[in-house]
Amino acid sequence: MKIDLSRLIDRAVYKIDFEHSLNLTKVSTKTGEIALAGPVNVKGSVYKTDENMYLDAKVSYEYYENCARCLKEFVNRVETVLSGRLMETSQLLDTDDDEFVFYYDNGEVELTEQVLTSILLSLPMKALCADNCRGLCLVCGKDLNKEECSCEIQEIDPRLAKLKDLFD
Ligand SMILES: [Zn+2]
Ligand SMILES: [Zn+2]
Repeated sequence: MKIDLSRLIDRAVYKIDFEHSLNLTKVSTKTGEIALAGPVNVKGSVYKTDENMYLDAKVSYEYYENCARCLKEFVNRVETVLSGRLMETSQLLDTDDDEFVFYYDNGEVELTEQVLTSILLSLPMKALCADNCRGLCLVCGKDLNKEECSCEIQEIDPRLAKLKDLFD
């Protein structure tokens, strides 16, 4: 995914808006991979200030996830941001440590790698199919979103549990 910066570099314009989609089916993660449910959308702009060029974009994607409560598969939608300073590859680095830098070459910046990184960083640890998902019954395993069960879940106070052990 490349963005042409030449009009910005030539000072013909001060800002370029762009919108691209990346057609990926999966993204490798540390623990395996995620399957994407549609193209990854990257929408944003590159702009110039007196001294520098910056990029600011919104990355949105949808992927298949299993609900942490009911284990059902659903499509989770995530939005994250990608932003930083643009620098020519040949420029020697003189940046603040926590500044994010995109390198460009021949008037073009290649973003695919950074988009993939932003996806990995934004993946939620836990996702729910719905905020009010009722999950599975801890006793019989039924999906409580679909049907009620008659199990009684006893939440035993740990102090009482100790007492109970003594009498067993
Ligand atoms: Zn659920
Ligand atoms: Zn049950």
